[in-house]
Amino acid sequence: MSIVLHGVAAGKGIAIGHAHLVTRGTSEVPQYDIPPENIPAEAARFDAAVKATRKELEQLRNAIPENAPTELGAFISLHLMLLTDVTLSREPIDILKEQGINAEWALKQQSDKLSAQFDSIEDAYLRERKQDMLQVVQRIHNHLVGQSNELTLVNNPFEDTILIAHDLSPADTVLFKEQHITAFVTDIGGPTSHTAILGRSLDTPSVIGLHNARKLITENEVVIVDGINGVLIIAPDDVVLNEYRRLAREYRSHKRELNKLKKTAATTADGVSIELAANIESVEDIKAMHNFGADGVGLFRSEFLYLNRDTMPSEDEQYEVYSAIVKKMKGKRITIRTVDLGVDKNPRWFGQNATPNGSLNPALGLTGIRLCLAEPVMFRTQMRAILRAAAHGPVRMMWPMITSLPEVRQCLIHLDTARKQLSERGETFGDVGVGCMIEIPAAAMTVGSILKLVDFISIGTNDLIQYVLSVDRGDDAVSHLYQPSHPAVLKMVQHVIRTANRMEKSVSICGEMAGDTAFTRLLLGMGLRRFSMNTNNLLAVKNIVLHSDTTKLENDIAKIMRNEDPEKSDKLLKALNSMD
Ligand code: PEP
Ligand code: MG
Repeated sequence: MSIVLHGVAAGKGIAIGHAHLVTRGTSEVPQYDIPPENIPAEAARFDAAVKATRKELEQLRNAIPENAPTELGAFISLHLMLLTDVTLSREPIDILKEQGINAEWALKQQSDKLSAQFDSIEDAYLRERKQDMLQVVQRIHNHLVGQSNELTLVNNPFEDTILIAHDLSPADTVLFKEQHITAFVTDIGGPTSHTAILGRSLDTPSVIGLHNARKLITENEVVIVDGINGVLIIAPDDVVLNEYRRLAREYRSHKRELNKLKKTAATTADGVSIELAANIESVEDIKAMHNFGADGVGLFRSEFLYLNRDTMPSEDEQYEVYSAIVKKMKGKRITIRTVDLGVDKNPRWFGQNATPNGSLNPALGLTGIRLCLAEPVMFRTQMRAILRAAAHGPVRMMWPMITSLPEVRQCLIHLDTARKQLSERGETFGDVGVGCMIEIPAAAMTVGSILKLVDFISIGTNDLIQYVLSVDRGDDAVSHLYQPSHPAVLKMVQHVIRTANRMEKSVSICGEMAGDTAFTRLLLGMGLRRFSMNTNNLLAVKNIVLHSDTTKLENDIAKIMRNEDPEKSDKLLKALNSMD
């Protein structure tokens, strides 16, 4: 009898193959006392395991294949960083000395303590780093007990192996190619786990967070991984198998077609040129931006520079990062968003302006631009770094979470001060266009006056939807109410686009809606000509652009824009998208 499990779709695509159960990582943790005279030797044994783990991770990092996704190196480096942190490399030794216990047990106690700390983090992305920590702990543990960390499939007779694991670490994926892994599924992991991110960029069909897959599957059993819908089918019957074989063929040929579009200009059927830019979060993402033929970067989220550290990043440090990125852009334009902190992203070094733990409504609190204006030293430091980087290529500066006009005025004053400070120091700096994110309804409804003060705007639909519908974007309990196609959202987006177009000011969308093909035609019909998205979505959006006629779309979307019933929205969108 076949079984169907639902999880999180990570790597797109469909794979049919034979299951291989990864059994490592489940060994019991031995627990015993160590006599005082043997404690130094036990501490040395732990030290040796940490050193061996470091060597192993360094070797893996050096063995990353040329064509591997850029994230892979970064993720392995993160594991190395976690390994060398005192919490993993030193504190277990303190525990074993204090309690007179074996190294494995001391490591387990420390890992339980760290897990609890990670669980209390509100930010989903940072919370998921717990998994990275546990993967590093597992490696150290395996060295202690003499177990291999390597993912080897002994006498694997199949060319279509599908890995069924409790969890997979980024390092495991280095070995995918040589081990003929065609897909993978895991019991744990959320949408922002590194396993999910790698699944997406490795182009390997994968479903994660399946909870009990390993218990339900037997070795070599035939399984189907549907990485498009996040489904795993165990022991499918012939009818299902044949249907999935057909879908897999269709998907592969669709992808081949899309890949041919990398160098094709994004021009609509009636000859309108559309800008398709990339959203990036680190210097590593630039490679994909070039690879997919994006028209520059429409959103660079600069938060990563500020988190996981004990001090504020200095101007020089930021300048180094920004200028390296600007140089790698090879003349294409980058829009750097000034830091968008608050809500649940609070750097450790924040003082009184940190959102207090347990704050009732952090998303309505001191966040985004409000926080920058409350921390002017931090704000101007970043502005100076961006201005200096702009000497190396075209750069724009974008301010997040603007609510209304006075904030824009204050930003402009700070920018002016930052320029003066650089001039006084005799520093070289460039010119930057300035713009606002429109992601708060108040800003959307008064966008005309905001546009008079800035060069461009970019609509952040992720937050705009949250605030228009009063639905926390990170809260699972209300995720069914987070509806991008809600008529109120669409009307607001249309108002912003129309106003900007009327004023002949540049408008783009950089929220997830820009990369969702369900909305491409609707947005084109509203008059949007600039999109910024995760590069993985770029070719699919381009494909829709090529097959759309803007002269007709304005009429075609009228019915959707008249609709006020959220339940009808998706059906109307589907009808628009199936038109020729
Ligand atoms: C948005 O809100 O749509 C956006 C792009 O910003 P972020 O997702 O970083 O909040
Ligand atoms: Mg936002």
